[in-house]
Amino acid sequence: MRGPLPEGAGFETLAIHAGQEPDAATGAVTVPIHTATTFAQDTVGGDQRFHYTRTSNPTRLALESCLASLEGAAHGCAFSSGIAAADAVLRQLSPGAHVVFGADGYGGTYRLVTQVHRHLTFDHVDLSDLAAVQSVWRDDTAAVWVESPTNPGLAIVDIADAAAFAHSRGALCVVDNTFATPYLQRPLALGADAVVHSTTKYLGGHSDVLGGFVAVNDSELAEGLRTTQVAAGAVPGPFDCFLVLRGIKTLAVRMDRHCSSAQSIAEFLAQHRAVAEVSYPGLASHRGYKIAARQMSNFGGMVACRLAGGRQSALAIAAAVRVFTLGESLGGVESLLGYPAAMSHAPMASTPLAADPGLLRLSVGLEDPADLQADLLQALRQA
Ligand code: PLP
Repeated sequence: MRGPLPEGAGFETLAIHAGQEPDAATGAVTVPIHTATTFAQDTVGGDQRFHYTRTSNPTRLALESCLASLEGAAHGCAFSSGIAAADAVLRQLSPGAHVVFGADGYGGTYRLVTQVHRHLTFDHVDLSDLAAVQSVWRDDTAAVWVESPTNPGLAIVDIADAAAFAHSRGALCVVDNTFATPYLQRPLALGADAVVHSTTKYLGGHSDVLGGFVAVNDSELAEGLRTTQVAAGAVPGPFDCFLVLRGIKTLAVRMDRHCSSAQSIAEFLAQHRAVAEVSYPGLASHRGYKIAARQMSNFGGMVACRLAGGRQSALAIAAAVRVFTLGESLGGVESLLGYPAAMSHAPMASTPLAADPGLLRLSVGLEDPADLQADLLQALRQA
């Protein structure tokens, strides 16, 4: 059997091997999909690793160990979806606590807070402006919830600053790292207390599995999250864990290509007269470019653009694309185009946080970049 991984093994090595020893029984080099829901016990109350799959499962444990190592975390807990992971983190806060969210952020998190965690109080402000955060701060503020880059606007928040600000006031800093992935950004090393993922996106990478994950260093927080897994039960099945694990093995090479294609698409869009504004953190003109260059190793695969012709142009382009697919979600091998105002961010429609009606969000996939650019060029003729 293979020995332990070398100290200081690189990201790609950890992605392929961490938590994934060859199977002791057979030598299989991929983690078996352990479908058993229950495990034989030698004695009542015996000291064994696995009892019942809601509590722990060998395939899930491999995923949790691998992803925790990629985030540089002491602990990791997998959930059945990204929103279940966010829900689990919010459950760790005291009832009635106040949370500061970014003004730009995923619509499902907004829905979770406003329709499920109704006991919480909250404000949404521009998290890149700490004076704005201070202006809504309260004695019972328990957490700052950061997305960077944000969904859908691709704004950048200085994670180290946000974490230092929260800590100086006795609050937690939670970072939803779905857009960046641990390949590009490791929030715990920047001072965050918890990292949330929708593994449905880049980590799974193939638009065929739903999952979520939380990484933390604090053992008390980890204990609370594990209790939430067991007590509330929103855990991923073993086949889903296997799919995410398999996706993670190619994360680094996929992200390199997502980033280079997104950069060229962003530069192309920025030159097009039908486009009023492109938001991509890899453009030197982006407000958060310097911070992104500091806290990320590359700028990601997501691009947002605001059409000069507003809603009508955005909808015309959405109807005209042929290589991009109009659809929810992101981070898969196929390029997706989303219309946030009526899709991912519909829960905020008719609130002050509503997405700009002229905004399109692109998840730049792994197709030939020339085909992607040609597709946008022909679709932009409809703008
Ligand atoms: N966080 C972000 C930034 C997302 O974009 C999403 C989904 O789009 C989620 C969380 C929720 O993830 P899931 O759809 O896996 O529940």
